[in-house]
Amino acid sequence: LTILGIESSCDETAAAVLRLEDGKVTLLSDVIHTQLEEHAPYQGVVPEIAARAHAEIADRTVAAAMREAGIGYDALDGVAATSGPGLIGGVLVGMMTGKAIAQAAGKPFIAVNHLEGHALSPRLGGDCAFPYLLLLVSGGHCQFLEVRGLGQYKRLGSTIDDAVGEAFDKTAKLLGLGFPGGPAVERLAKTGNPKAFDFPRPLMNRPGLDMSFAGLKTAVARAAAEAPLTEERLADLCASFQAAVCDVLAGKARRALEAFDPGEGESLRFVLAGGVASNKAIRTALEAEAKAFGGELFAPPLRHCTDNAAMIALVGAERMAAGGIEGIGDLGAGARPRWPLDEASATLDPAYA
Ligand code: ATP
Ligand code: MG
Ligand code: FE
Repeated sequence: LTILGIESSCDETAAAVLRLEDGKVTLLSDVIHTQLEEHAPYQGVVPEIAARAHAEIADRTVAAAMREAGIGYDALDGVAATSGPGLIGGVLVGMMTGKAIAQAAGKPFIAVNHLEGHALSPRLGGDCAFPYLLLLVSGGHCQFLEVRGLGQYKRLGSTIDDAVGEAFDKTAKLLGLGFPGGPAVERLAKTGNPKAFDFPRPLMNRPGLDMSFAGLKTAVARAAAEAPLTEERLADLCASFQAAVCDVLAGKARRALEAFDPGEGESLRFVLAGGVASNKAIRTALEAEAKAFGGELFAPPLRHCTDNAAMIALVGAERMAAGGIEGIGDLGAGARPRWPLDEASATLDPAYA
């Protein structure tokens, strides 16, 4: 199966061509355009600007991916595009582009849940089999899920306020570090003292897998206001913030790993996915937790942690291979600003199209 994938749910315009043959994944192309310059002056993603930027380069991005793959549209078996959740203007651009190509080429269209893309992203590497315990940490989401197979997602716990990526972004903004915040905070944290500030570890010792990060950001704001922000203080604040995040995620991961039963004869796989999964300190902390339980941590390469189209094409390919997409596919599907991953299984139901 050869699938064109399109991603446009936030501030990345991306297109990729992926081949899935006998369970083996080959990426023929993987183009990502990040709208950094467009949003930088506002220190955050502006939905209207994002939608326009997607509209301006979506066609060229797809053309580049096809050129790089060295195939024509007739060689495709389907076209997959992110259909939610995300900023609706951008989602519409990607969906319309995908639907137009699918119709013109006479191929099925596959409406993909962006979170399912993140959830399956470690499978781009080819060695991460089902089932697995998943920690999805991105700009808009923070949740533990049990992944039993394609379309089988059970949410075990989520943040009750901010997502982790959001906490990184807001912390960076209040410290004047620019956007996106994650990479900036991580860079500064490297030279700081993680014990300089004793920030809270919200909900860490409560039972269950729900998390909370809004209070942590407030604590950083309060500490930052206490004295002038020298280079050293800035680094200490970042390091202490990141250490608190690591502790909370590791503590909850311990709980989740304890409760997760992979089933008879299955090894224990723990997956870390989403933009925040590119954070080295978090990766290291969670790798240690997985090892402590005799398991293995799977996290995609950095390029596939943040938004990309390869993961969207992979969902399309896996769904098609499973037999859920026939004829014109999901051509009737609409854009969904909200679309919890637990409901992604609905797209396997032919009645959905
Ligand atoms: P969602 O997937 O929930 O819809 P999104 O698509 O905007 O949200 P992603 O692209 O998966 O999110 O991830 C972007 C987020 O990841 C941003 O909040 C960014 O700050 C964070 N991030 C990126 N790199 C790092 C890093 N090195 N450390 C911490 N956070 C990071
Ligand atoms: Mg982004
Ligand atoms: Fe994302």
